[in-house]
Amino acid sequence: MTETLNPFKIAQAQFDEAADILQLDAAMREFLRVPMRELHFSIPVKMDDGSVQVFQGFRVQYNDARGPSKGGIRFHQDETIDTVRALSAWMTWKTAVADIPLGGAKGGIICDPRNLSEGELERLSRGYMRNIARQIGITQDIPAPDVNTNPKIMAWMIDEYETLMGWHEPGVITGKPLALGGSEGRTAATALGGIFTLREAAKELNVDLTKSTAAIQGFGNVGSFAHKLIIEVLGVKVVAISDQYGGIYNADGIDYDVLRAHVDKTGKVVNMEGTTPISNKNLLELDVDILVPGAIENQLTAVNADNIKASIIVELANGPTTPEADEIFNEKGIYIIPDFLCNAGGVVVSYFEMVQNGYQYYWDEALVNQRLDSKMTTAFHAVHNMAQEKGVSNRVAAYLVAVDRVVEAVSLRGWV
Ligand code: GLU
Repeated sequence: MTETLNPFKIAQAQFDEAADILQLDAAMREFLRVPMRELHFSIPVKMDDGSVQVFQGFRVQYNDARGPSKGGIRFHQDETIDTVRALSAWMTWKTAVADIPLGGAKGGIICDPRNLSEGELERLSRGYMRNIARQIGITQDIPAPDVNTNPKIMAWMIDEYETLMGWHEPGVITGKPLALGGSEGRTAATALGGIFTLREAAKELNVDLTKSTAAIQGFGNVGSFAHKLIIEVLGVKVVAISDQYGGIYNADGIDYDVLRAHVDKTGKVVNMEGTTPISNKNLLELDVDILVPGAIENQLTAVNADNIKASIIVELANGPTTPEADEIFNEKGIYIIPDFLCNAGGVVVSYFEMVQNGYQYYWDEALVNQRLDSKMTTAFHAVHNMAQEKGVSNRVAAYLVAVDRVVEAVSLRGWV
């Protein structure tokens, strides 16, 4: 049988495994393996050349038993309703494993933002918000950035929302610029949260991180901060890093500031002085201690899993590993910090942003990071202990912790 790369099928298979162990009854299973609500819409956008292009947009509210649904918006040429469904399911388990009072959602637009001008991107972002405005809100659903979206796009979206509604409501979007009510520490939060889980894992595994090497896939918001922070906070040597155009390698380590300056100038990681080129494929298979997939889904599959040499995988991306690859990694004894635990830092600080917006009083970065550390450390050990107790992988353990919490909320509400 060929491996399925449909992320929603993968998310359902992962859920089913946890549902079996938790012995969920048929109705609860049926309810939790599909989204509660979906919006599908078309966004007509006036292009710079005077033509109109129609884009497809989605917002999926997977489950809101534990609180308003929460999750980012992706702009990607390969977006499909099933990727958005999967990502909204993972958001549900993510907010539950991090134990914040929110549900799960995700949004997306099928588009390649590299082909859009600044003006086209703004009109597309505002058009997206006009389509979802009446279905979101601080008590319903709170969007945020994700792949190819950023604080600037969140600023256009919050402005469109507030203009439509006629009042200020900063908490309805997180990941905003600081000047519009964003939180200190939000842009670095996904990476920093993952770094905290890696620190905890290293303690459990007795690994000296200052003697470890890492390869990082991705140099977007997540990958670039992972590069900076894995060096700064943990003293790991980063020997390879890539973006969608290709990767670079240097056995002596790649300096973050030098790469940042290079990317700011050229827009790509390739051709940084003192490094040799490496393909994304070869980067994943490097002989390093730590592999950080920090880009998109389905990067570690049945095709390359056998060739992976890292002993710890830090899943900062959503859905980077397929179930087939997972099985191979488990057999090989590779330690995985699973995605919706590892990358929960972003939504944790999004939650802090909502809290600060709610009482219009803002915390400094040190306080944000300290509270993030506490949430991530608690979540990591809940999963680690569950894995030990039940003799299951960290991924299954993360599902057991998260699904159990959502099931409790659904039951208490009397839905199932
Ligand atoms: N897009 C991020 C994620 O996948 C953050 C979501 C949020 O802050 O709502 O976790």
